[in-house]
Formats: sequence, structure tokens, C-alpha cells
Amino acid sequence: MEIMVGKNAGFCAGVELAVNKAKEISSQGNIFCLGEMVHNSQVVQDLEKNGMKTVKQLEEIPDGSTVILRAHGEPVITYQKAEEKGLKIVDLTCPNVKVIHHKVEKAKKDCFILIIGIKNHAEIIGTSGFAGENSYIIETEDDILDAYKKFEKTNLDKIFVVSQTTFSSQKFDDLADEIQTNFCEAEVIIDKTICNSTENRQLEVTKMAKEADVMLIIGGKNSSNTKKLFDISSKNCQKVYAIETVEDIMNITFDPNDKIGIMAGASTPKYVVEEVKSYLEKGKP
Ligand code: SF4
Repeated sequence: MEIMVGKNAGFCAGVELAVNKAKEISSQGNIFCLGEMVHNSQVVQDLEKNGMKTVKQLEEIPDGSTVILRAHGEPVITYQKAEEKGLKIVDLTCPNVKVIHHKVEKAKKDCFILIIGIKNHAEIIGTSGFAGENSYIIETEDDILDAYKKFEKTNLDKIFVVSQTTFSSQKFDDLADEIQTNFCEAEVIIDKTICNSTENRQLEVTKMAKEADVMLIIGGKNSSNTKKLFDISSKNCQKVYAIETVEDIMNITFDPNDKIGIMAGASTPKYVVEEVKSYLEKGKP
């Protein structure tokens, strides 16, 4: 059996930074994370064992406590509400996401902003909050006409396009082309803000899936970047499994002649990747 492990498998720099900082402070008491720290239940459980609590809304946090803002980022309103409640903010927004927030804040003075991404994804909700009223989220081609109708009601003549950092590179290019065509009367500025780590991971998984007999994609079920890795692999490889932990492969029978590719999403700790590799090699994690 030949095993290939993606060089880009596992935590990206932004998630690693955020999880390490959260680990460092989680035992200090009265530490609340707004939303799941990452889309990975093991990581969240480890932090919670240390004392950190996960909440869905700011309202659940007692006044005067500490709130952790995750790597995905938050809209401006969250900062305002947290301050009103007298919460201490530990802002772990990934620096790459912060750059996008600054870009759209600057551009909104004279541009209509189009944000390419998944509508209910936390990062997109955050970026959209910074982009303000004159903006629209484009998830599929069908959204472009509605975005145009909204744009027409403004007196703006410039469009600024950004992306969710973990969006599919190919899909972004296709949507950006459609936008150029549909907004042909406006000046369209395309800023492909997909994170390098995402692009490298998608390129690598494409190559691996073409070579592999079986692909194992490790990541949380709610992780959109993991889902994309699964979709890319499925287009290029006959047998693809989406797994969260090593336990998920224990009932799979692999052919000893199989070439197996392992890739993991940005919210998967490296030790899970190692456990999967070790199980394939030695029959135990
Ligand atoms: S994928 Fe990129 S932008 Fe998103 S958290 Fe990771 S490093 Fe930051």
C-alpha cells in the first residue's frame, strides 16, 4: 500500500494561531467563544475541557466576561455589542480576513461591493458587515441578477469584488467572469482574496486525487473548505471518503495494492492526519 499525505493537510496558519491563543487563555475562567472555535468537534471539546465555553450569541455571555472572536471574523455590530456589554474582546480574526475587512471598508466609499462566498458562512457574514448596505453576496450565478438590481438603485458606478478566503478557486473565476459580463457598464475591480493556503490545498488535492486509487478527506462535517476538497477529489478519483477521525476508516477494507491519498481541511489538527496515516501503516492509530 502506498500512502501520500498532502503537505498542506491540516491547520492553516490562521487557525493554528487562533487555536493556540485560545488554548493559552481557556483556563483563565469566564472565557467564552462566540460560535465554535473551528469546525472540528475534537478541537472544540479539548478547549472546553480546559474551561472555555462555546456560545451561539453574545447575549448568553455574562457581562464583564471575556469573549473570543474566531479566525473567521465577525461583523462590526458584534464588536459594538460586546463593548456595550463590557466584554473584554480577544480578537483572533485571521490577519488575512482582517485585510479583506479593511479592503471593503475602504472600497465602500465609492464602490458597490460583491462578496463571492457561501451566504451563511461566518466569514461571509463578518465581511458583509464591514461592506455595509451597498453590497451583495454572490454564492451562485443566480445571485448576479439580484445583485445588479440592487446596484442599479445606487448612484455608484464601480464594483469591487472580493472572495471568501476558502472559496473554490475555479468557481470564483467562473463567477468573476459572469460578473464582468453582467456589470459591463460599470468599472469592475476583481480582488481574488482566496487565501494562499486554500489555493495550495485545492491544487495539491487535485493532483493527488488524479494519482490515487482512494482519497481520504479529513475534516469536520460543517467545514466548507473540507467539503470543497471532497468535491474536487470526487471529480478526479473513483473512491473518496469524507472522515472526521481515524475511527471512521476502521470498517473500510483497503486493497494492499491501493495508492491512498490523505488530505485534511484547514480546521483539522495535524495529529488526526498522523493517526490516520499510522492506522493505514500499522493497523493502529
Ligand atoms: S484559510 Fe487562510 S484566511 Fe482562512 S483562517 Fe486559514 S490562513 Fe486565515
